Amino acid sequence: MTSTPFRDCLQVPGSFSIAVELVTARGLVTAERSRALVDKARTLAADPRIDVLSITDNPGGHAMLAPDTLGTDLLSRGQEVIIHLACKDWNRNALESRGWKLASEGFDNVLCLSGDYPLAGYGGTAAPVFDIDSVGLLKLFSDMNAGLQVARSAEQLERTNFFLGCVVTNHKMHEREVVPQYQKLAKKVRTGARFVINQIGYNARKDDELLRYIRREGLTVRALANVYLLSRPAARAFHAGRIPGVVVTDELLALAERHGAAADKGREFFVDLAAKQLTVATGLGFNGVYLGGHATAETFFEILERARSYADADWRELSRDLRFGRAGEFYLFEADPETGLASDQLTRGYVESTRKRRTDMRVPLIYRFSRRVHDAVFDPDGPLHDRARSFYQKVEAAPKPVGRAAHVLEQAAKVPLFKCRDCGDCSLPDIAYVCPESMCAKNQRNGPCGGTRDGLCEVYDTECIWSQAYERLKAYGEEEDMLSNPVVTKDNALARTSAWANDLLDRDHHAKSGQFSG
Ligand code: SF4
Repeated sequence: MTSTPFRDCLQVPGSFSIAVELVTARGLVTAERSRALVDKARTLAADPRIDVLSITDNPGGHAMLAPDTLGTDLLSRGQEVIIHLACKDWNRNALESRGWKLASEGFDNVLCLSGDYPLAGYGGTAAPVFDIDSVGLLKLFSDMNAGLQVARSAEQLERTNFFLGCVVTNHKMHEREVVPQYQKLAKKVRTGARFVINQIGYNARKDDELLRYIRREGLTVRALANVYLLSRPAARAFHAGRIPGVVVTDELLALAERHGAAADKGREFFVDLAAKQLTVATGLGFNGVYLGGHATAETFFEILERARSYADADWRELSRDLRFGRAGEFYLFEADPETGLASDQLTRGYVESTRKRRTDMRVPLIYRFSRRVHDAVFDPDGPLHDRARSFYQKVEAAPKPVGRAAHVLEQAAKVPLFKCRDCGDCSLPDIAYVCPESMCAKNQRNGPCGGTRDGLCEVYDTECIWSQAYERLKAYGEEEDMLSNPVVTKDNALARTSAWANDLLDRDHHAKSGQFSG
């Protein structure tokens, strides 16, 4: 048996792809719990309705069997596989190495993720890596597809053939979370993502809105709707926020509790809910679904069968059972009064808010001050730029202690103002003067990860740096362009050197933007 390549499945007009997620276990592939997963994977692979199996990479920040171990068995059976690849455990060299390995072994479909923050590991909590983020990984693999240029050489390496995917977390509460998520999706698509899977959520209006955003922006990406088979324990965990970015509202939890107390533990209700999600996703115009949850292959087949039984039903009516929104939740588009789903009209409150500018919106004084300094000194057209550049040229030509003194002075200003960690490749101007090194647990330089909850970081008890940046930029009417800059990739060779000198003398990522030094 040989499956149609996943990328081809998604291209067929009117087609609808079915992906199923497989979560590997900890331990040997020959251990009993992995054997059960292998059997489940083979059963799914043998069913012609399943187009692709998608295998996770250390989900939830836990160490598990690598996805390609299971994937190799499936590939050898002609099954299409998506390999998840997360940046939390690998630096850029390890990710590139993984890329060559995956491409050499025939794994073309790769889901590029920043990944969950590591939670536990051998002998204690693992150190997070986050050397590059999901956008950086998409850039790396897109460049590998184009033939990676070897640094300081004319050599160009062989082209890979990756079909790249990404995730968007659209079930967010506030404008400062929702809009940056959409902006990041657009950046991922510009960087090479060709399919997107949304994070788990149970609000059909939000899913409709996601598709409308994709169409409005003309993004060339195929979208798979996340259909996660709930259970009472899963609903409790999601409601408690134990899986970053996943939303189960009070109302849905109450339903899960009620049905979960029944003799079948709510199985009938949860299978039906998943079947309705699938049916509504088809009606909304998704290109497929991404089935997940702790379930046997037979339960997934049951969901497909149940969805088939809804084929003649009005999917808009069914979507009324998938309206688990929250009071005060932000939507980019107005509700359609007839269906309660989304419309193509931007929300009145959102449009109105874009008219409020710096006079009405409060931003920290340090932000206003930093903008002025940047415009005067670091903007190439700024009145002090040339003098500052010439100053640093002289500093670099002078004996070393002069350079060290200038660096100490820079740090004396930047540590108290920005909690600077002296990375030397400064992203302050990219993130409205919030430092990603000290204020972001995942050092996200290309937009927010999906983990925020009510605007707060999933790791630190502070406002997400990108939510802060969005609000600061909004006061100046610049929020729409927040993520329109080229992909940012920090150069670690610049650590503990003067970021001001590196910027003014064209050594940092601003000068190299869009390029990989490889
Ligand atoms: S130089 Fe690096 S560590 Fe310092 S403020 Fe800028 S981004 Fe943060």
